Amino acid sequence: MELLRTVAELRQRVRQQRAQGRSIALVPTMGALHAGHASLIRTAAKTGDFVVVTLFVNPRQFGPEEDFSRYPRSLAADLELAAREGAEALFTPTAEEMYPPGSATFVEVEGLSNRLDGKSRPGHFRGVATIVTKLLAAAEPDRAYFGQKDAAQVAVLRRMVRDLCLHSELIVCPIIRDSDGLALSSRNTYLSQEERKQALALGRVVRRVEALVAHGERKAEVLLATARASLAAEPALRIDYVELVNWDTLEPVSTATLGTLFAVAAWIGKTRLIDNTILS
Ligand code: AMP
Repeated sequence: MELLRTVAELRQRVRQQRAQGRSIALVPTMGALHAGHASLIRTAAKTGDFVVVTLFVNPRQFGPEEDFSRYPRSLAADLELAAREGAEALFTPTAEEMYPPGSATFVEVEGLSNRLDGKSRPGHFRGVATIVTKLLAAAEPDRAYFGQKDAAQVAVLRRMVRDLCLHSELIVCPIIRDSDGLALSSRNTYLSQEERKQALALGRVVRRVEALVAHGERKAEVLLATARASLAAEPALRIDYVELVNWDTLEPVSTATLGTLFAVAAWIGKTRLIDNTILS
């Protein structure tokens, strides 16, 4: 496993690999890797590509009141996990490397970037779109792997890749959950034992909506009311959003159809968690 620190090193390494006939797979992360990240890396490694995991806690996607400074960091364990799952290089730049003094360029996906998480986290998707553009420009991967866990992020990045004529194909991998249904997240480490139990309401509401749809319910009004009522049964939880949207545009729909995104975000104490399902 190779540790790369600069854009120049990353670029040189992937170009060498490409010259040897290998394709390039990129797995962007903020580290504190768990089984969700592992599944992305494993999927990437299956194609036989040169797999580069990027590990960068991107300051520009955190708001001033958010958890940037306390976000979990565990480089040694991350290196081990990434290597075990088949990554050959880990790119972990400094903030100065990614944003040299005078950095003045941002990528904004208008319309999409202020919906769902973008609404409650102003500037978040601008930060995400900007860093992912920079990583794609630096590594020029054939494929880049993202989790459905961050479904709104996927919508923003898909649109961005299309709009900017970027060369990489985005591959979306399914949500990995703990055995009790809680979607894995680096932020789960913030939860106390009690809060972790309360957080299970998110996975529960996702299953509840899936079950209603399986039984033929299609009206957004009914699905959302049921979802809100189900979340209200856990009084410690504060809803940020509960939405049923078109996964491409992130605009609300009145009727659920194949591929509609049901997404939820909620606060448990000081921790904001998200979950979703793509209706089938
Ligand atoms: P993060 O480190 O939280 O920025 O996540 C890096 C990538 O891993 C993103 O594409 C996430 O969507 C994905 N990811 C995070 N948690 C999960 C999960 N539980 N299942 C699948 N993918 C995930």
